[in-house]
Amino acid sequence: MSDKTLFQKIMDREIPASIVYEDDFCCAFNDITPQAPVHVLIVPRKPIPRVGDAVAEDQAQLGALLLAAGKIADQLGVKDRSKGFRIVINHGVDAGETVPHMHVHLLAGRSLSWPPG
Ligand code: AMP
Repeated sequence: MSDKTLFQKIMDREIPASIVYEDDFCCAFNDITPQAPVHVLIVPRKPIPRVGDAVAEDQAQLGALLLAAGKIADQLGVKDRSKGFRIVINHGVDAGETVPHMHVHLLAGRSLSWPPG
């Protein structure tokens, strides 16, 4: 049986997804259950289970996720301050984590309320 995470299988094209961005550190694809007109998941190639499990050697991986967020927001036309986007990382049960392979949610395309639910 494969030990790959769901998101590794997507990155390896074993499970279909709409991939919008890739680089050496990460892969980004549309969320299957979008919560906004733009809802992209940015996933490190290294299967860090959740953000609090990252270690010092993951620094480049973590930084790459934020840099990718800016590039993807630009690519999708929501980077301009008159529009904008939100990034979210869920760690653990109370935060709503459901997939144990760290990922950044990039949400945009509508006015997002604050505080989040
Ligand atoms: P989280 O709840 O923060 O762990 O986020 C997991 C996200 O993965 C959810 O927003 C799901 O809708 C999304 N998701 C689950 N399976 C897939 C899939 N096969 N393709 C794309 N997104 C997925």
